Amino acid sequence: MRAPVIEFRQVGLTYPGTPPVEAFKPADLRIENGEYVTVIGPSGSGKSTFLNIAGLLDGPTGGRYLLDGIDTAALTDGDRAALRGQRIGFVFQSFHLLPHRSAAENVALAMLYAPTADRRRAAQRRGRARDALAQVGLSHRINSLPTRLSGGERQRVAIARALVGEPSLLLCDEPTGNLDTATAESILGLLDGLHSAGLTIVLITHDPQVAARAERTVAIRDGILGEVASL
Ligand code: ADP
Ligand code: MG
Repeated sequence: MRAPVIEFRQVGLTYPGTPPVEAFKPADLRIENGEYVTVIGPSGSGKSTFLNIAGLLDGPTGGRYLLDGIDTAALTDGDRAALRGQRIGFVFQSFHLLPHRSAAENVALAMLYAPTADRRRAAQRRGRARDALAQVGLSHRINSLPTRLSGGERQRVAIARALVGEPSLLLCDEPTGNLDTATAESILGLLDGLHSAGLTIVLITHDPQVAARAERTVAIRDGILGEVASL
C-alpha cells in the first residue's frame, strides 16, 4: 500500500506573540494519492496557514506531518526544501510570474530551483517547459510575455510551471480568485483533467461552487479543520 500523500497527526501551528495566535488547531488529516480535495473557509480562517504547512513552507509547532510517508519533522531545512521541490507544485491567486520573461522562460526557470539531482541542461529545460505548456493548452503562447497574456493564460503558465517538476501534489491557493467566471471555469476544467490523469490536488477556496468541484471537501473555521459531509 502506498502511503497517503498528506498525513497530519495532530498537526497544529501557533504563531508566537502576546497573545499567541492559534492559526491552525491540532488536526488529523489523510489525503490519499490521486484524491482531489477542496478546502473551504472564510477569510482569516487558517486556509493559507494550512497550505503553507502542507507545502512545507512553514513547519508546524505541534504534531507530525508525513508527506508521501516521509516524516518531515526529521528533515533538515535543506532536505525539506529539496522534498518540496521534488514533490510539490504551487499555484497562487496572483500567478507570481516574472513579467519580463516569456511563458517558456517562466516555466523553465522553475527547474533551476529543483534539487541538484533533478537539474537539467538548458536544452532539456526548454523541451520540458514546452511540454508543460502544451499540457495546459498554451503551445501557441510559449514566447509571449505575461503582460501580453490574459488572466486565464497567465494562470495556465503558472500551472505549467507547477507541473514541470512532475510533482506528486498540486497545492492551489484561490487559483480562480482573480478570474472571471468563464475563465475560472476553464481553469477548473484543466484541474479536473489533471486529477483524472492521476494527480493529487488540494485546492483552497472561499467559494462553495468551486469547492463543490471536488469529490471531497474539508472546511476550516477559526483554525479548526473538519470534513464536510458529501452531498
Ligand atoms: P486565510 O488564508 O484563511 O485567509 P490565514 O491562514 O492567512 O487565513 O490566517 C489565519 C490566521 O492566522 C489569521 O488570524 C491571521 O491573522 C493569522 N496569521 C497568519 N499569518 C500570521 C503570522 N505570520 N503571524 C501571526 N499571525 C498570523
Ligand atoms: Mg489565504
